[in-house]
Amino acid sequence: VCVYMLGKVLAKTAVFGINNNNQEECPYLQRQNACQRITDANMFALISLPPGMDKAEWLASNTVAFFKHINLFSSALSEFCTPSTCPTACGPGNMVYFWTDDHGRKLKCSAPLYFDYAMSYIQELLTDEDVFPTKAGATFPTGFIFLVQKVFLLLLRTLAHIYWSHYSEVLALDLHPHLNTLFSHLTLFCQQHSLLEPEDMKPLQDLITPPQKHRRVL
Ligand SMILES: [Zn+2]
Repeated sequence: VCVYMLGKVLAKTAVFGINNNNQEECPYLQRQNACQRITDANMFALISLPPGMDKAEWLASNTVAFFKHINLFSSALSEFCTPSTCPTACGPGNMVYFWTDDHGRKLKCSAPLYFDYAMSYIQELLTDEDVFPTKAGATFPTGFIFLVQKVFLLLLRTLAHIYWSHYSEVLALDLHPHLNTLFSHLTLFCQQHSLLEPEDMKPLQDLITPPQKHRRVL
């Protein structure tokens, strides 16, 4: 039994089953791949704010943890993501991500450059004591939530690019259970704490399980 199986994936599989224009199903939505996880842990217990814990502290510690996991995961695939394999930073539906520089200019760049900018930007934020304070008694800055939202958007795009452009390498390395687990954990965390806009989630909506659907499938 696949605990995190999506009703939507099932529905999509059924639709493709009767599709007669030979359109191939997106490999990451194939049921045997999409339901693989590295743990049966209760994700809802993992994402909820522990009783008595400060919300900003909870967001901060999770932001650091997600960054470490996703940075490590994308490093494992970095040899496959080069300016020649990925001349644009693209995601599901061939959506193209543009990097906005310090002057607000939008730069079209290769995927490795885009995600290099993204990871460096996040790393800089996380190590900035004024933004992510680590000392006892220090307070989080005004607008902290907006920075956290920006980090999660970049982390989501990192996973979206991997699903869209590097899924065959992920499968070959047998990393899809890790990727699916990371993705479920990230999207549920973002839903629970309102960190991403619905339109940001839309490109990978087929992989996202609304909480009520989880329960119904179970
Ligand atoms: Zn790539």
